[in-house]
Amino acid sequence: MTRVVLSIGSNLGDRVGRLQSVVDALGESLLAVSPAYETDAWGPVAQGPFLNAVVIADDPALDEFGWLRWAQQLEEAAGRVRGQRWGPRTLDVDLVNCYQSAPDGDVEVFSRDYRLTLPHPLAHLRAFVLIPWLAIQPDAELTVDGRKRPIAGLLAELEPADRGSVRLTAQVLNLTTPQRVVPNAMPEI
Ligand code: ADP
Ligand code: MG
Repeated sequence: MTRVVLSIGSNLGDRVGRLQSVVDALGESLLAVSPAYETDAWGPVAQGPFLNAVVIADDPALDEFGWLRWAQQLEEAAGRVRGQRWGPRTLDVDLVNCYQSAPDGDVEVFSRDYRLTLPHPLAHLRAFVLIPWLAIQPDAELTVDGRKRPIAGLLAELEPADRGSVRLTAQVLNLTTPQRVVPNAMPEI
């Protein structure tokens, strides 16, 4: 079994519909879904603001590469065209981090494969990942430079302007199945 934290975002077309498509596809695998937040796009390409959320899911049949393929299939189903780098996208699904279940508790998955970096190398710098994640898992931790760090602390280290750029919206992602309990981010030692 692997549990995954996913960051999902859209800034093209029916943004909330695109995010909802991820929640719908997860079905029974869904553990938690955050509120939706709006964030202005940055970078060299002028484009509309993103709608972002974080979801947590587990699935006995998927390892980290299985989750990556699953994520890319959803991006394709949303009509994503991989053209301009940092350009607008109908749907972006990134793996933030992943845990493999083991007899003594869940073990974090690390990957340096060219197709998959885990934990996600930029997640700790992105307020639009940390703020939604914190809303559904306040005790979550993220490994940064080999150290487990509470995400609340990582968020506090960001520039106030970065945190302020992530705005809570009234858009609601509807659960098709009841929300389940998220296990502790890390096993107790
Ligand atoms: P980005 O999300 O960085 O804006 P893309 O969504 O186009 O860019 O993804 C580019 C590539 O990043 C994908 O083809 C995928 O193989 C790779 N990748 C590496 N690590 C991850 C991760 N943790 N989550 C999602 N994709 C990843
Ligand atoms: Mg991506």
